[in-house]
Amino acid sequence: AQVSNQIAAGEVIERPASVVKELVENALDAHATQVRIRVKDGGMSLITVSDNGDGIASDDIPLAFARHATSKIMTGTDLFKIGTLGFRGEALASIGAVAKVTMTTSTQNGLGDTAVVEGGDLVKQEKSSQPKGTTLTVRDLFYNTPARLKYMKSVQTELSHIADIVDRIALGHPDVAFTLVNDTKTMFATVGNKDWRQTIASIYGNSVAQALLPIKGDTLDYRVQGYIAKPEVTRASRNFISLLINGRYIKNYALNKALIEGYGTKLMVGRYPVAVIAVHMDPLLVDVNVHPTKQEVRLSKENELTSLITKLVGAELGQQRL
Ligand code: ADP
Ligand code: MG
Repeated sequence: AQVSNQIAAGEVIERPASVVKELVENALDAHATQVRIRVKDGGMSLITVSDNGDGIASDDIPLAFARHATSKIMTGTDLFKIGTLGFRGEALASIGAVAKVTMTTSTQNGLGDTAVVEGGDLVKQEKSSQPKGTTLTVRDLFYNTPARLKYMKSVQTELSHIADIVDRIALGHPDVAFTLVNDTKTMFATVGNKDWRQTIASIYGNSVAQALLPIKGDTLDYRVQGYIAKPEVTRASRNFISLLINGRYIKNYALNKALIEGYGTKLMVGRYPVAVIAVHMDPLLVDVNVHPTKQEVRLSKENELTSLITKLVGAELGQQRL
């Protein structure tokens, strides 16, 4: 059972950033308004995610670490849930199989539990006192799977993957205060006051925030809202384009391309915009294909959305010249 757990774990947990993503999504699912992430050594030696969410009741703790156990109802029309469908109830079990995990949790301010999982087994659960919410501490990732450990890149690379995923989740949740700490250094903190522009500023800095232009528009099927940075502020990679569909960060090549097309000749070769674009739509128009953790989605009526994005961006930038 242990070996099969480790194999299954490898599909969900590829690297430290996958652990961070799963734990942060769990915190959001638990209605947290504050999420604090701390990592050491690119997450390889330590990942801690603390939230002020619902917490987990004592009796539910063994279940939380069991494979295919989930407390979440799958409606099939909720995109957020569709995104985790491929491994529902697998994240904690998978992490527990390939790392040393400690969880403290409480459903109230006061009495709660501390649980320890090693090699996939719940080896300890005892009463402890802490504020409402949950803290997961993940140590020595892949300590028992040397093959996987070998694939890890440098601390800096793993850290940048972590920062990238936390950035984008935070960009999609301006109502939640996120803090990302590398060892003792705070990489960024958002205030969680619902102010989207301020959230972008907290993550990308003031020079980007000052160059932001709002875009907004809709078609029959899609509602688009977001911020694009003026072409003076560009980056050497596409990583500063964030697309959110119904609040969830996704990757979609055609949408990126449509955005870049909207900038037209204003972008120099090899330069890419900074942009955060949220799309709201009927979840039935989203196709979650390929591997679920890859976050790539296909859209029905994609052309309708790509031309809207190109048009909105082009119109906004065109106005700027006048
Ligand atoms: P899933 O999220 O697909 O349900 P997970 O393995 O990620 O599966 O989590 C298992 C269960 O543990 C969740 O369904 C939830 O009930 C509980 N859980 C995990 N993390 C948290 C958290 N931070 N706060 C509250 N409950 C949590
Ligand atoms: Mg989960």
